[in-house]
Amino acid sequence: MEIIEAFAVKNKCYQAGAALVPRGLMLHSIGTPQPNAAVLARYYNQYQPGGQSVCVHGFIQRDGTYYQTLPYTMRAWHCGGSANQTHIGIEMTEPASIAYTGGASWRDLNPAATEAHVRGTYAAAVELFAQLCVQYALDPLADGVIISHAEGAARGVASHHADPTHLWRAFGLTMDGFRQDVAAAMAEKNTVEEDDDMVRYSRIEDVPDWAQDTVRALMDAGALKGDEHGCIDLSLDMVRGMVIGQRYAAACNPRYYSIDDVPAWAREETQRLIDRDALQGDGKHELNVTYDALQAMIVCQRMIDAADGK
Ligand SMILES: [Zn+2]
Repeated sequence: MEIIEAFAVKNKCYQAGAALVPRGLMLHSIGTPQPNAAVLARYYNQYQPGGQSVCVHGFIQRDGTYYQTLPYTMRAWHCGGSANQTHIGIEMTEPASIAYTGGASWRDLNPAATEAHVRGTYAAAVELFAQLCVQYALDPLADGVIISHAEGAARGVASHHADPTHLWRAFGLTMDGFRQDVAAAMAEKNTVEEDDDMVRYSRIEDVPDWAQDTVRALMDAGALKGDEHGCIDLSLDMVRGMVIGQRYAAACNPRYYSIDDVPAWAREETQRLIDRDALQGDGKHELNVTYDALQAMIVCQRMIDAADGK
């Protein structure tokens, strides 16, 4: 599981910042066919003037990528009931291969893709919930500790929703099975954790494949130095931290080299910035601009337009 910290600092829920002492975990499914956790994390990182804000603690993607959008010691507005004051709220993404037909009913457009997505997010949720149970000393099998949004509704501690079993039912997955799987994952983790902590790498060739490019890039950039023999000394935790840090930086502030890379919502305004020569390429690329810089320029352009009365 790759955990990417992407706090929704612009969301009112984050800004309210009420304290939470986690006494349980609530599992949600987003209720819309959006498989991409980064898209959801970005969507909820907005200030909604006047309107209601909702925010969960994080979004799980099929491949195990997880975007954490709130600190766990901060109350999330995830279930529309009193469980917000006791439970961490985690949302699973949903496959693009379903179509909602009203309420919690849906039609399967591609059963194989749907099942792969549902089982992928299920497995990632088991792993995450096992970690959180260890972190907050929670018993996954105790009554009311791990509950779904639907179970929260039945207990009168959450709004009336059917997730995530409305999606799981088709594949024989249940909340009881989920709790059992979390308990099993915790038992298994107990036996391998010690070994993980012992792992150290002294040569770049020994670093796991999934992290080699990152470690090499950091060495090339001079951010990571070996000793006089070129030997490094990295723990598995350090390697994981480097990979997560690099992905987070790229995900939060991507760089665009062409107008086709720019998100659809910003394309028209980007073209106007190019037309007025406010935005230029670097000789090699049509553009060379980060998301943050582009967003700032678009905001400026809107202010100029507003002043011009356009
Ligand atoms: Zn829910």
